[in-house]
Amino acid sequence: MQSGLTVRIGELWYNFFAMNVKKFVKPNIYSLTAYQAKEISCRVKLDANESPYGFADGYTVLKSVKTNRYPDPEATMLKRLLAKEWGIRPANILQGNGSDELIYYLITAFGGPVLYPVPTFSMYGIIAQALGEKGIGIPLGTDFDLDGSRMAGAIRREKPKIIFLSSPNNPTGNCFSSEKMLQIIASTSSKSLVVVDEAYHPFASEKGFLPMLGDYRNLVIMRTLSKIGLAGLRVGFLIASGEIIEEVNKVRLPFNLNALSQAVAAEVMQHKAELRQHIRAIVREREKVFAELSNVEGVAPYPSEANFILFRVEDVDRVYQGLLGEGVLVRHMKGVVEGCLRVTIGTPEENRIFLRALKKVVRSEKEDK
Ligand code: PMP
Repeated sequence: MQSGLTVRIGELWYNFFAMNVKKFVKPNIYSLTAYQAKEISCRVKLDANESPYGFADGYTVLKSVKTNRYPDPEATMLKRLLAKEWGIRPANILQGNGSDELIYYLITAFGGPVLYPVPTFSMYGIIAQALGEKGIGIPLGTDFDLDGSRMAGAIRREKPKIIFLSSPNNPTGNCFSSEKMLQIIASTSSKSLVVVDEAYHPFASEKGFLPMLGDYRNLVIMRTLSKIGLAGLRVGFLIASGEIIEEVNKVRLPFNLNALSQAVAAEVMQHKAELRQHIRAIVREREKVFAELSNVEGVAPYPSEANFILFRVEDVDRVYQGLLGEGVLVRHMKGVVEGCLRVTIGTPEENRIFLRALKKVVRSEKEDK
């Protein structure tokens, strides 16, 4: 579409009164801030809750993938493997291009309002706004647990279609109390879908909500392979009643999970011992890093059931920049949890480099005072 007045001056064409995109775009998109996922070069990358361990062996299957054909639209093989692992039927699983995509599909299919405790994973709010739905953040209570009465009041008042509960929660790292979560699921049984986002479940001591799937028809569980070594493949899943899966499936783009990701993920799922070993190594390291952080003066870590630790520091901007200067990238939680940084658990060597750098930066800060 040609808009405005196009004039030739010398060799060049100028377009005056051209479209003002800021006014043309929907207001809910214009006022939205895109998810911040910049690539910052560093020596030790501990900012995105990825696993430090990959699966080089998984890629041997790539030779058998026919890239001239569309992928299996149903991800049959992968869903079959996961259904067996989780003790459910493939019809209770929906595949996503990462769980981010499934959040999109859920809100597209069921609409809003969308309610979630805050601080939590930012995509619930971003996607709600992108789809023109109301996003409602309810502050967490003490110890970053759900504030039961505040949540109940907001649910009564706002009548959300979907409630997202990330447990373990990103960025705080804790699991919410199961009783409080069950209370929310039970009290909203005919009015709201409750999506328990178990992205970090592999690192948690809690058993998760999969065993309760049969008891609550409004319960939806979300899982991802991103945190256990396959972030680059973008593979996530919804687990719910066949009825819910059927409705969400209607808005799923055809062939949303590419053939290479399906093949590698299915291969890796056959190497469960290696997967578990990596998870155990991360949990062991998490406990070590937590203990070390607790001993650094001016640093206060929060207990974590995930593959990262949120910690408070005195001069957060300076510590963040100081770490970056040492080649260590962590996540600055500005605007989410003030005064805090979030570090992903890496290999023992990466964690050692991080802790050494942090101690150096904090020490130099004290000396400057
Ligand atoms: N849920 C939570 C709580 C997360 O922290 C993340 C990733 N940061 C996701 C979902 C998205 O994961 P995926 O890579 O599967 O899109």
